[in-house]
Amino acid sequence: MLKIGCHLSLSHGYLAMGETANSIGADTFAFFTRNPRGGKARPVDPDDLGALQALTAAKDFAALVAHAPYTLNLCSDKPDVRQFAEETMAEDLALLEHLPGNYYNFHPGCHMKQGRDAGIELISSALNRIMKPECHTRMLLETMAGKGTEIGRTFEELRDILLSLDDPDHFGVCLDTCHVFDAGYDIVHSLDAVISEFDRVIGLHNLYAIHLNDSKNELGSHKDRHEKIGKGHIGLPAITAIIRHPALRDLPFILETPNELEGYQEEIELLKSLADTEEA
Ligand code: ZN
Ligand code: FE
Ligand code: FE
Repeated sequence: MLKIGCHLSLSHGYLAMGETANSIGADTFAFFTRNPRGGKARPVDPDDLGALQALTAAKDFAALVAHAPYTLNLCSDKPDVRQFAEETMAEDLALLEHLPGNYYNFHPGCHMKQGRDAGIELISSALNRIMKPECHTRMLLETMAGKGTEIGRTFEELRDILLSLDDPDHFGVCLDTCHVFDAGYDIVHSLDAVISEFDRVIGLHNLYAIHLNDSKNELGSHKDRHEKIGKGHIGLPAITAIIRHPALRDLPFILETPNELEGYQEEIELLKSLADTEEA
């Protein structure tokens, strides 16, 4: 059974997100742990977090995929920017201890012309300080479109980060379909080859979640502009192949498409019906 949800707003609290997800047919979801531009987290309300944890268990949700603020940069050329990213992520992981067993997804960072290797070194050393052995959350590095100096445009860059981690069992990868397409991986014409490539370089055992987005731009554009499902250059046939693929279909799928709730509900319904067809 396809497990799918969308990005939701935390503005009414944690339980409210679970209820909203449930009401639109979702059985996982994503949220920003705080204002995506950084800033302070909302005060921790353990009862609210506990209520969400109970709801997701009762409704048999797949793992949730919390998203770090996308402005954080673990490999900035500015030490205070790196420090802020590191502190924010550590604080988010402490918060997520109230929701054990879920994922915390983040953009690896932009090396700001320090070079790929220097960036990777800064990212992995920060992750080694952030992750504690007792943590109950898995951190997921996201595949990136390769805008500017973004790290994570190639599977090799993510592999090199994973290889430098002291505690790789606490980490994994979240594959964003718009990002890999924009990065130049042709999931439209060669899905099997891209998945084999991922397996060869990173290993499919390291893949834990999918951001399911169409793309406003062409293969290899390095743009990162998400489009509604079936309305972009990836298109519905390729997206259907992705949700049905044996290597992917049991993972949680998160929509980050430009939609309000109603649009998300329609996409979830459509994708659930497309995923089911094959099993029938
Ligand atoms: Zn992201
Ligand atoms: Fe994404
Ligand atoms: Fe994106």
